[in-house]
Amino acid sequence: MEKKLFQAESKRLLEMMIHSIYSNKEIFLRELISNSSDAIDKIYYRTLTDDSLTFNQDDYYIKLSIDKDNRILKVEDTGIGMTKEELEENLGTIAQSGSLAFKSENEIKDGHDIIGQFGVGFYSAFMVADKVTVISKALDSNEAYKWESSGADGYTIEPATKETVGTEIILTIKENEEEEENYDEFLEEYRIQSIIKKYSDFIRYPIKMDVTESKLKEGTEDEYEQIKEEKTINSMIPIWRRNKNELTEADYENFYTEKRYGFDKPLAHIHTSVDGAIRYNAILYIPEKLPFDYYSKEFEKGLELYSSGVLIMEKCPELLPDYFSFVKGMVDSEDLSLNISREILQQDRQLKRIANNIEKKIKTELQNMLKNDRDKYETFYESFGRQLKFGVYSDYGMHKEVLQDLLMFVSSKEKKLVTLEEYVSRMPEEQKYIYYASGDSIARIEKLPQTEILREKGYEILYFTEDVDEFAIKMLMNYKEKEFRSVASGDLGLEDQEQNEKEASEETEENKELFEALKEILSGKVKDVRASKRLRTHPVCLSTDGEITIEMEKILQAMPDNQNVQAEKILEINTNHEVFQSLKSAFETDKDKLNLYTNLLYNQALLIEGLPVQDPVEFTNDICKVMV
Ligand code: ADP
Repeated sequence: MEKKLFQAESKRLLEMMIHSIYSNKEIFLRELISNSSDAIDKIYYRTLTDDSLTFNQDDYYIKLSIDKDNRILKVEDTGIGMTKEELEENLGTIAQSGSLAFKSENEIKDGHDIIGQFGVGFYSAFMVADKVTVISKALDSNEAYKWESSGADGYTIEPATKETVGTEIILTIKENEEEEENYDEFLEEYRIQSIIKKYSDFIRYPIKMDVTESKLKEGTEDEYEQIKEEKTINSMIPIWRRNKNELTEADYENFYTEKRYGFDKPLAHIHTSVDGAIRYNAILYIPEKLPFDYYSKEFEKGLELYSSGVLIMEKCPELLPDYFSFVKGMVDSEDLSLNISREILQQDRQLKRIANNIEKKIKTELQNMLKNDRDKYETFYESFGRQLKFGVYSDYGMHKEVLQDLLMFVSSKEKKLVTLEEYVSRMPEEQKYIYYASGDSIARIEKLPQTEILREKGYEILYFTEDVDEFAIKMLMNYKEKEFRSVASGDLGLEDQEQNEKEASEETEENKELFEALKEILSGKVKDVRASKRLRTHPVCLSTDGEITIEMEKILQAMPDNQNVQAEKILEINTNHEVFQSLKSAFETDKDKLNLYTNLLYNQALLIEGLPVQDPVEFTNDICKVMV
């Protein structure tokens, strides 16, 4: 019989499949089953327009069978079938040749990229089979044909016998290659079943298979026999296509576990069906707990993407913004092509639309949770609040509008989490700024001397304990037109500020020489030494001028490439404190003592801020000097 040649591009793709080192070979089955499902769809659509035909659901199915001895895996369908011409046309050439042309020569070489990102369709069978036989009988045709190929050199077509309309794909599975490649697995019932479950569970037609089961022999009590029974492997109706009202919380939780989205119990789910310009169904979950690898390089965000019930990508990152990367779930759309590539996806307008809708849905869900189930939201926030803050900070603050109302911080009032909205709504009228204080822990922040004056006034202070907090807030700049202000800032915008400032500068002026001397002693360490207007009981504290606060300095200094960024520090002294009198008299009588006291006070101020003392030995020696 005459061998026909494959069209050039098909030959290239086929060769790639034959020599594929791709590890995910199992997807061949997904491709064949999808083709079968499409073929049944085609009959179904014909019946919609052709009155002479009726569509009887039970007559349409996909059937798999395994013949281990002869190394045969067969996929059979009752779809529309192919004529001789169609066999030639469809299996001898690549329909979407554009997709190959799209890839550079290098990417194509090992095949990995192309297989991972394109549906490669029928030819993927050659990853696992060294001979592929297709027997098909088309609707409206009396003849059946057999197409067969054992590789890239060509294929044959000849008449065949087949009673019913439809297609049989017969794969002769490759022999195992020593150690490297195991093909036997594709002749194992359980393996084939699990591949069907994984990729094709939601195909609309039954995928049947003869499954061997151990059954009690009739009339005996302990004798078993192996019985082959036909079973439908796929569940067919996906949960996302079902009516929300029919589904229980447990159904959604089962799906979450079944899909291995996480080991926790999700806090909430979103089930949405959109039937507009783009049609899709989605089920999304807000997990309760941080996945163990969440902050590692291995973590990949993304949702499962299905095209008409067929899984095309396990993690489609384009569907989720980074700040919602914790969301798990899936999207199924009829309007996406099965053979869509990752590059195309990135620019795909349909997908962008879906992603935008999803982002809004997630935001609304979180807002509702915050409003209606505060405890739940706080549980969520414990796990993922940090991600939201990163979201505010990243991309130059582009997403701050979306995220600002989802933020929470512990506040000095009741030491509970509050939203910015709550904070602002209960600000006294004269309060100008939203105040925050940063530190390693709440216990530590509470004792910060800089907060004294604000507490005295009864102003609420937000406590920042995470490194990202201050950076996020700097990006936010203000909330409802109220600016954020660090308690350590030089300007706290207090009502009596002018008066305070006047008094403070008078104090400084009055003791001008002393302050000059102090500044001299601490030169290179602080930018200025001033009489404080904010301290009440504490003797000293540090404040800062300029954009960089002390907390930011700590974080920036801890970075590998830190460029030694420093906050402009001011040592503030409480002139009403007894210590100030000691400084004064030392200044008059004993310059060594003044030196000693000044350094001690400076180091104390550093310690209060959680900054390292530059020379701990000298510091402890200084303390001893005071003691003896
Ligand atoms: P794709 O499915 O992406 O078009 P394939 O290489 O998988 O690419 O298949 C090429 C064509 O062969 C299909 O478009 C379809 O027309 C035809 N075909 C493949 N499998 C079947 C089948 N089981 N029944 C009927 N037609 C099929």
